[in-house]
Amino acid sequence: MKFYSTNRNSPLATFEEALMKGLADDGGLYMPVSIPKFDKDFFGRLEEHSFQEIALLIAQKFVEDEIEEDVLKRIINGAINFPAPVVPLDDKISVLELFHGPTLAFKDFGARFMAKAMGHFISKESRELNILVATSGDTGSAVANGFYNTPGINVFILYPKGKVSHIQEMQLTTLDGNVTALEIDGTFDDCQRLVKSAFVDTELTKILNLSSANSINFARLLPQTFYYFEAYKQLENKTGEIYFCVPSGNLGNLTAGLIAKEMGLPITKFISATNANTTFAEYIRSGRFVPRDSILTLSNAMDVGSPSNLTRIQLLYSDNMELMRESIYSDSADDNLTVDTIRRVYENYKYVIDPHGAVGYYVMKKFLSTHQTKNYSAVLLETAHPAKFLNVVEKELNKKIEIPERLKNCMSKEKRSVSISSDYKEFRSYLLDRKQK
Ligand SMILES: *Cc1c(COP(=O)(O)O)cnc(C)c1O
Repeated sequence: MKFYSTNRNSPLATFEEALMKGLADDGGLYMPVSIPKFDKDFFGRLEEHSFQEIALLIAQKFVEDEIEEDVLKRIINGAINFPAPVVPLDDKISVLELFHGPTLAFKDFGARFMAKAMGHFISKESRELNILVATSGDTGSAVANGFYNTPGINVFILYPKGKVSHIQEMQLTTLDGNVTALEIDGTFDDCQRLVKSAFVDTELTKILNLSSANSINFARLLPQTFYYFEAYKQLENKTGEIYFCVPSGNLGNLTAGLIAKEMGLPITKFISATNANTTFAEYIRSGRFVPRDSILTLSNAMDVGSPSNLTRIQLLYSDNMELMRESIYSDSADDNLTVDTIRRVYENYKYVIDPHGAVGYYVMKKFLSTHQTKNYSAVLLETAHPAKFLNVVEKELNKKIEIPERLKNCMSKEKRSVSISSDYKEFRSYLLDRKQK
């Protein structure tokens, strides 16, 4: 499969090039030149395949012969080594739990696959690869974990000192080995500025062989298509309309779902739920895209004022708003509605939902109240484990939340980070010093 740049001013790229570059030279995002299709027969026999087998069949359509089958299989089995169960709440509504990976959020799927695929290609080269990632929390831990112990790759995670939650900080700073946590005396924007400055510093990028693990990398979207197929496979009732509700920020998860639908997966409609950062919901309503500064909310992984994957969605529908609205409904829920919903979901189903899932549940119910046909199945993507948001969830439910073992483990380890200022010169010389050693 070849990949084109959404700015259409770069040559076509192979899967390897799209993966290793992340962003095209013209600043555009990579998209496959065509979306491969599965036939009806394939969906009828989905139950015969394990999650990992489904993942392999999908990945092969995009990777083709660039990675040998047994190697691709090893990459997938190493990356997707935890389940994505569909848990029914009632006879029509269920939750797709995407938090069973090591860092307890769906970003593990994308980050782990991308890391293992990069690890494969770098193993053929003699040079080490250095990855820089700025994080405000969740992305950093998923990426760090994905690359952990990958030979030939060093990862530097930049996070703003005192501005990530305690749990997030422990997830970032307890890995060691090829992962270094840089505690930046500044804001998330400072971290991003340092990373961006490094990438335009041609001398530095040459010396260090720098790459990014940016969320716009197509190799992070691809594995997110896998679990839509896996969820469909698990649905009890496939005879009616099928809705998937996606709590949305940068729209990567939604884009992956839309690609899965284009591949033939019979999904009637996507419900995209945003928090008080309503840019996308307003775009679907009005057809006008008005980016804004992001607002802090309780569902902070969705605090995005200018979603980076919008261009991909526009391309999928050739900029046709009517077509887009046939496939996508979008609305939002603010923090008050979010905490209300956490309580309501617990009262109704004894299910503990996290703030991101709660935004989704509220918007999904709103959609169903006006659109429902008698025969439907609605699946809500639960993007993070509630234990990652203890302060919100425990307070609202007045109840202790069980912390999963894999999270407890890192909480008891020793924090290791390198403190540096937000000055680019200091950051640059730190990286060069590390290279000397
Ligand atoms: C990143 C994230 C989101 C938003 O996903 P996008 O693909 O950026 O739309 C939602 N929930 C959680 C928990 C996340 O970490």
